Amino acid sequence: MNKLTLDDLTLKGQRVLVRVDFNVPLAHENGTTTVADDTRIRAALPTIRKIIDSGGKAILISHLGRPKGEVNPKYSLAPVARHLQQLLGVPVRFVTNTVGPAVREAIDNMPEGGVILLENTRFLPGETKNDPALAAELAALADVYVNDAFGAAHRAHASTEGVARKVRQAAMGYLLKREVEYLSRLLEAPDRPFVGVLGGAKVSDKIGVIQSLLQRVDHLLIGGAMSYTFLKALGMQTGASKVEEDRLEEARALYDAAGGKIMLPSDHVIAPAFDNDAPQQVVAGDIPDGQMGLDIGPATIEAYREVLLDARTIVWNGPMGVFEMPNFARGTLAIAETLAEATRKGALTVVGGGDSVAAITQAGFADDVSHVSTGGGAMLEFLEGKTLPGIAALTDK
Ligand code: AMP
Repeated sequence: MNKLTLDDLTLKGQRVLVRVDFNVPLAHENGTTTVADDTRIRAALPTIRKIIDSGGKAILISHLGRPKGEVNPKYSLAPVARHLQQLLGVPVRFVTNTVGPAVREAIDNMPEGGVILLENTRFLPGETKNDPALAAELAALADVYVNDAFGAAHRAHASTEGVARKVRQAAMGYLLKREVEYLSRLLEAPDRPFVGVLGGAKVSDKIGVIQSLLQRVDHLLIGGAMSYTFLKALGMQTGASKVEEDRLEEARALYDAAGGKIMLPSDHVIAPAFDNDAPQQVVAGDIPDGQMGLDIGPATIEAYREVLLDARTIVWNGPMGVFEMPNFARGTLAIAETLAEATRKGALTVVGGGDSVAAITQAGFADDVSHVSTGGGAMLEFLEGKTLPGIAALTDK
C-alpha cells in the first residue's frame, strides 16, 4: 500500500495525534468501571511505544460505544486511560474534553515522550457526521497524524477521515499496517487452495463479501444461521431454524453462480428451543418441524476439517452456531482448532469478526493462527474490495 507509515515520520518533539480503537468492553462493579477485555488496547501499544520512545508527544483519540453525539459518562474513556497507564508503565494524562482550550493547554504542557488520552470522540455530534470544522480543530492539535484504528477505518468520520485530509502528514500506525498487509495477501495472489469460512446470523450482512470471496477462493464453507437460508433456498426443510425469507432468491442465485464452490452443512445439531439446556440431537438432511438448527453437526465438522487441512490460505469470519451457548459451540470451536492445525502445517490463516475472535480466544488458539484481525465490519469491507475511507485519506508516499 502506497501510504506513509509511522516509520516515515519524524517524531522527536512532534505532537502526534493518534486515532486508536479503544472501543473496548467495560465491566462495572462496586461503583468502579474497569476494562473487561484489553485486546484492542494491547494491539495499539507498539505504535504508542514507538512514538514516546522516539521523543514524540502521543495524543490519543478514540471512540467508545455509541453515545450519539452527547456527553454520557457511561461511555467515558477515563477507565481506559487508567488501564493504558498500567500497560505502558508511564503516566497517561486523561483530558475530559476532545477539543477546546483545556485540550490545547494540556498539549502545550506535554513533555517529550508524554501520553495524553482525550475524551470519547463520539461525545461530539460532528464526529460521525465528519464535520469539517471538527476535523480542522482536531488537526490543529497536531503536527502529524497517525491512524492505528483498523476497526474504525471503514467509517468516514472526523477523527478517521476528515482530520487525515487536514494535517501535513497522515500515516498508518503499526497495527493498521499489519492489518492491511495480511488482508491484502488474501486478495492478491493467495497460495492455493484458498478457503473461506463464513458464519453468523445473516446472509444479508455478508452478500458483498460472499460475492467477492467467490471470485477468489477455491471453496467457501458456510455455517451458522446463514446456512439455513441457503438450504431452504435449495429446497430443504429447515423447521424452525432462523431463515431470512426475503433473501431466498438471492441465496439461490449466489449458490448457482458459485459453480460448486459453496459447501453447506450436511448435518445439524438441532433443538426445539433457543436454549442451552434444550434437548439436542443430530440430524442429517431435513430439519423436522418445531426443531431449529443451532450448530453444524459432526459429519459437517469432519468434511470442513478435511477441506481446511488441505488449504494453503484460510480466512474465517462468523460462528458456525450459537457458540455463546456451550452446548452449541462445538462446531465453532472445532473450526478454531482446525485453523490452528492448518497454521502449523504452513497455511496462512486470518480470523476476524467479534464472535470468531471471541471463539478462537476462548478456545485458546488466538496465538496459533497467522493473524487475528481487530476489525469486524472493516475486515468484511476490505475483503469486499472496497476502499476504506480511513485508509484512503492517509498521505501517499
Ligand atoms: P453475526 O453477527 O452475523 O456474525 O452473527 C453472530 C450471531 O449469529 C451469534 O450471536 C450467533 O449466536 C448467531 N448464530 C449463529 N448460528 C446460529 C443459528 N444456527 N441460529 C441462531 N443464531 C445463530
